[in-house]
Amino acid sequence: MKAVVSLNSGSSSIKFALYTLDARGGPVLAAGGKIEGIGTAPRLTARDAAGVVVADRTWPADAAPDHGALLETLFAWGVDHLGDHEVIAVGHRVVHGGTAFAAPRRVDPALLDALDALSPLAPLHQPHNLSAIRTIAALRPDLPQIACFDTAFHHDRPEVATRFALPRALHDEGIRRYGFHGLSYEYVAARLAQVDPAMAAGRVIAAHLGNGASLCAMRAGRSVDTTMGFTALDGLMMGTRSGSLDPGVVLHLQTRCGLSPAEVEDLLYKRSGLLGVSGLSSDMRALSQSSAPEAREAIDLFAWRATREMAGLIASIGGLDGIVFTAGIGENNADIRARICQGLAWAGVAVDETANARHRPIISPPGAGITVRVVPTDEERMIALHTLRLIEENA
Ligand code: AMP
Repeated sequence: MKAVVSLNSGSSSIKFALYTLDARGGPVLAAGGKIEGIGTAPRLTARDAAGVVVADRTWPADAAPDHGALLETLFAWGVDHLGDHEVIAVGHRVVHGGTAFAAPRRVDPALLDALDALSPLAPLHQPHNLSAIRTIAALRPDLPQIACFDTAFHHDRPEVATRFALPRALHDEGIRRYGFHGLSYEYVAARLAQVDPAMAAGRVIAAHLGNGASLCAMRAGRSVDTTMGFTALDGLMMGTRSGSLDPGVVLHLQTRCGLSPAEVEDLLYKRSGLLGVSGLSSDMRALSQSSAPEAREAIDLFAWRATREMAGLIASIGGLDGIVFTAGIGENNADIRARICQGLAWAGVAVDETANARHRPIISPPGAGITVRVVPTDEERMIALHTLRLIEENA
């Protein structure tokens, strides 16, 4: 019996999911989990599809294996856990596919070279994605690996949505708006087409609100505009990332405050957002439970910025038929959803307080002109679906 593995390998964590196949060849979750704390004191946790813990292992900080060794351990654990099932392919989330890759691709040396060349565009993510591919290739050279790009879903946006107002030569060199969270949006769009085809066929804004956060404006399930741009730093305020900023601030930090480029990068990616404004935590749940005024200010800014960006995207798609909330905050935080919807009341958005508090699939009032939904995302499943499709096509 066959199985596939989905991997999402970051700088300090690796998320994974193992799938066996049903009678029609579709993925069935066998187990999923993550290794967190890579570089400090790593911890591997995994649960089966029923939520039962099937792995929980920690490594002490003074004897912690590196990224590659942890991935080897994880792969061996996965193969062992799957027992009689043979792993036929591994699918990877690869953050950047540049302008060339509009769909998932089977990995070969030429593709790896092309993706290496994109690393400067996503220095905090792409090298880790690619090193996971190389680790698996060294372990099992014959095992097909599929690269699934976070940028691909946004590939066919109108040209105007991809440009910065910079000299055109820079655009031609690749300094343009790409957009990210594509696997999440693709999954949400596909789910929406199943549960509400009429809404999916219309003008929808999907809000992926997690540690990383962005919005995607879709028409008939296709990305038309999105808040992330050249990097995953753009757009909304996030857990530790600033989101959109006057570029003059970056210049000022370097020329007047004397920060080095590396220090500015660290500030914008790791010390800003909810963490920077609150001075307390990057975690929305922790801030929601805090009585500190700084926590309130951070939450207010998060909701205000998301509302403001959403208003802009309504213009990009010429009106609005529906909103979908997804990811950690979008799926679980009724207060943030309510604030954003209330901020868009002028556009006809309304929220049913009871349905919202209960995290119901539809949180707009019955008969509302704009349907507001909560759709849990599942990027790992999307990777598994792409992986299986490519394996089948190449069989
Ligand atoms: P993600 O990156 O999608 O895992 O989302 C992480 C964010 O979602 C953090 O800010 C968490 O505080 C928030 N979050 C996750 N689960 C919950 C929950 N059950 N209730 C409230 N917030 C949550």
